[in-house]
Amino acid sequence: DAAGLPLVVRGLRKAYGDGYLAVRDLSFTVEPGQVVGLLGPNGAGKTTALRMLMGLIRPTGGEILVFGHRIRPGAPVLSRIGAFVEGPGLLPHLSGLANLHRYWQATGRPAEAAHLEEALEIAGLGAAVHRQVKTYSQGMRQRLAIAQAMLGLPELLVLDEPTNGLDPPQIAEMRAVLSRYATNGRAVLVSSHLLAEVEQVCSHVVVMSKGTGVAAGTVAEIVGEGRSVLVEVSDG
Ligand code: ATP
Repeated sequence: DAAGLPLVVRGLRKAYGDGYLAVRDLSFTVEPGQVVGLLGPNGAGKTTALRMLMGLIRPTGGEILVFGHRIRPGAPVLSRIGAFVEGPGLLPHLSGLANLHRYWQATGRPAEAAHLEEALEIAGLGAAVHRQVKTYSQGMRQRLAIAQAMLGLPELLVLDEPTNGLDPPQIAEMRAVLSRYATNGRAVLVSSHLLAEVEQVCSHVVVMSKGTGVAAGTVAEIVGEGRSVLVEVSDG
């Protein structure tokens, strides 16, 4: 039943001004408890797809349903999606906690201390939240940025390339953070162009090539049986 799902994407399309179809007939679903990786080479249309999910750009066709509600730019249903696209706008001289407070105030939403605490706990920064961000590793910065997207505990967390630039231990931390988040009916959607990263942080994979989905399943299914698909679409 699509109405109960965090995300249903059906026949999604996006044509840019020059008529170029960056996304064409893309369909997939995200269920509660899943960490879904949108995997594809550069230019496959991942960012375009995520930007439509976040209501930042308008689809040319198809539909996006979040718990059965259609996404339109500015629609109230977007409050159920927490997103992080751009590079982190963190202030290095402030503590991690001060950055989160500042971000929360900037969103203009009423602060719920319990939510902030849960987001911090999931992000796994521990006592480091009291340290200046300039002392953080790349992985810690990334997790703080994701904690910002988690504030308010949206049911669907959407992250563009959250593992970009991380080393293997930091990727393992990211896996822990995302799987902790994807509990209590919540789900996560991340993009990546690296199979190895998706394999490590995700439970499910949607493989994109040339704007459309070419395979979908659990990580084991895609990695085990879908190698040929991955070789075909890989840019390496
Ligand atoms: P990357 O990992 O490089 O971001 P991607 O899979 O996220 O790749 P998109 O950024 O969605 O891919 O881009 C898909 C295609 O659409 C690319 O060929 C890109 O050049 C094109 N494109 C993206 N934005 C625009 C735009 N504003 N106008 C025209 N074409 C665009």
